[in-house]
Amino acid sequence: MPYETVLGNHELASRLSHTHSAVRSLANKSEFYVPAGKVKNLDWLEGLIVDSEDLDSSREAFQNVLAIDGSQIVTRARDGMPSVMYGFAQVAAVTINLAQLATQSASRFVDPTVMYRSTKQQFFSLDFPVAGAFVREGIDLKTSWREAIHKAFTSEQVELMGRTSSLQDLLFRLRGTADKPATEIEVVCPECKHHNRVGFSPSTCSGCGSVLYATDVLRIHEEVTPEGGSNEGPLGRLRSVLELLAFVGLAGMLYQYSRGQYYPGMLFMIDGPLAVHGPPAKLRGWAQDYVQSMGSDLPVGVCGIEKSGALVDWADQLAKHDLLKPMQLVICGHEVNQFVRGTNQPLKYGKETYWGRQFVYRAKDGRVVSITVPANSGAAYDERGGQPGPQGYSNLKAIIDVIEMTGSSMYRNGLVPIALAHGKAAYPIGMGSDVLTHLSKELLGVDGAERSPTFRSQ
Ligand SMILES: [Zn+2]
Repeated sequence: MPYETVLGNHELASRLSHTHSAVRSLANKSEFYVPAGKVKNLDWLEGLIVDSEDLDSSREAFQNVLAIDGSQIVTRARDGMPSVMYGFAQVAAVTINLAQLATQSASRFVDPTVMYRSTKQQFFSLDFPVAGAFVREGIDLKTSWREAIHKAFTSEQVELMGRTSSLQDLLFRLRGTADKPATEIEVVCPECKHHNRVGFSPSTCSGCGSVLYATDVLRIHEEVTPEGGSNEGPLGRLRSVLELLAFVGLAGMLYQYSRGQYYPGMLFMIDGPLAVHGPPAKLRGWAQDYVQSMGSDLPVGVCGIEKSGALVDWADQLAKHDLLKPMQLVICGHEVNQFVRGTNQPLKYGKETYWGRQFVYRAKDGRVVSITVPANSGAAYDERGGQPGPQGYSNLKAIIDVIEMTGSSMYRNGLVPIALAHGKAAYPIGMGSDVLTHLSKELLGVDGAERSPTFRSQ
């Protein structure tokens, strides 16, 4: 997601900035309704704002944060052929020890260079032609995308605890439980809409005989447009799936092999909400079931972080009027959905996309962030209003404690782990560097441990 550079470089002014100011002056003259800008008549909010100190604090504190962020880029691949576009998507994961961060924070300003050097990181990436070019002759662009995604998901290898996995293996893992990956995935044929069960190898549709891939379940190809444009939209969907799979792989690994040791103290922090939008939205339910397969006694530590958006804008307004005080949390029940989202179905809001519940928190230093946290059990959102919390989210207080510890004065509403992960994910990508890089033993700070989890390139 867009962010300022981690080394403190300022973004250059856009060539289009004069256009923005022209549009803004027009917008200022017209009248329209901005829900996030309205803070009057908020009696209904009473009872939805809670002090963080009143939250259940029985869960032990997190010791490490593993932040995940991704980025994608589309570039022109051929001189003189502007329609030929090549896409890259990359995901980075950065591990930070909170005790180490605390010694840095003691100096009031976190030194970005020191933090940058001391983080342990890994990332993986994939690349393929996204417009104006095809993986082979004689196919249309949607088919080219399907084949490219299948190839990337089956050829990129990742080694977990001495066992090799592919991105497709992580997809089957997500479809199953933390202990038992699925062996088949139900795929709707892109040609004839017939429902098929597809295993690890490509199969043929029992309705029309077309070749089907398990990765077709992602339905990324549905948004691919053959004429004009860069197809950056579908590439962004794919990037968000990769972020989810990075979490699935890393969390599943910790749960299976380090349940008593590293699993309880690890907080996975994902940039953006815990949601799957667009054609791959089916993965929302899979993600919810997957995290809950790790049990409700000690739910996996995971949260999504949003630094901007309608909910954060609205909470900023509340903070400005001192309706939301430092160390207070907004419970985002259907009233908030109705008010901020402008939806006419506030009870059902989020049920198709979110696999965690949104909360808004104002930190001691004034930062306002939106966090998404999975429920201990059951759906965070459903057709009847879901579980607004705070009951049923036993990780919530420990997550808020991490947000307090990892604030960054460098970014508006920023968090150090997310900023570092973004800095890694947004690194310039060399052409053809589409191999999985190491997640060394160092990543998890378990040097010398015999059963330490590792990612390795082939
Ligand atoms: Zn078919």
